[in-house]
Amino acid sequence: MNTKPFNGKAIYNPSGKAGEYSYWACNFYTGCSNDCAYCYCKKGVMSHVWSNAPKLKKCFKDEKHAIEVFERELMQNLPELQKYGLFFTFTSDPMLDSTIELTKSACSRCIRNNVPIKILTKRAEFSKDFIDLFEHDKNHGRSTDWIKLYAIGFTLTGHDELEPNASTNAERIKVMQKLHNAGFKTWASIEPIVDLKASLSCIEQTLGFCDLYKIGLMSGGKLPNKEELRMFVGRVCYKASAYGAKVYWKDCIKKHLGRDIISAATVDRSYNIFK
Ligand code: SF4
Repeated sequence: MNTKPFNGKAIYNPSGKAGEYSYWACNFYTGCSNDCAYCYCKKGVMSHVWSNAPKLKKCFKDEKHAIEVFERELMQNLPELQKYGLFFTFTSDPMLDSTIELTKSACSRCIRNNVPIKILTKRAEFSKDFIDLFEHDKNHGRSTDWIKLYAIGFTLTGHDELEPNASTNAERIKVMQKLHNAGFKTWASIEPIVDLKASLSCIEQTLGFCDLYKIGLMSGGKLPNKEELRMFVGRVCYKASAYGAKVYWKDCIKKHLGRDIISAATVDRSYNIFK
């Protein structure tokens, strides 16, 4: 099993904190123009290849080669990918102007092979094309079943000043609602929590059109007050239950609280948003 994000493959099995997002993930690029202040990729093992301009991973000669490698790995791991889905992406934003063409190309191959797709982005602009395509297919009597294979996620921190080149949190929330209304599954990464108040506000603003929240602390950041975190957890569980949304609490939160979190809304790592 290949668990490294920075490897000679397109598709791999993420480990550690990334593994809490998906059993399978795809990275084509390293680097990201959103330029988040807290970006985990700017530090550690990827710091030497990181830049604000995404670059194809060195193992790919060009985009054509990247999609050939992707297609080969997709077919090699097809039953597993059909079961668990494929996450885009940990080492860039898959919906940047500079990355989206390869993302779309890979997604079209996933759809042809019935592989569910989990997108995580801080961009809002792409959603119009997705909704227009869905409307076009619907209006022309074509199958729109492909929509069921997408779970589109937005990172929401409530702190635009830390994400200077990303779409604003308000723009992300607005398009999440549009995508959900069109029939796409939607989810939010409430990670990192910069402050509990802003994270709770993001959750409250998306109740009713967000199917799943994945919630985690700032990696290496100051830990929140335990009592305040406990109250936050209680409020989120209550509100998510009331709206039929699910919540995945990352291990870092449970570790800090020193206990498991049990509620009707809480799901574990095996939860499948597509079922
Ligand atoms: S969107 Fe993700 S990959 Fe891009 S700069 Fe922000 S944290 Fe880093």
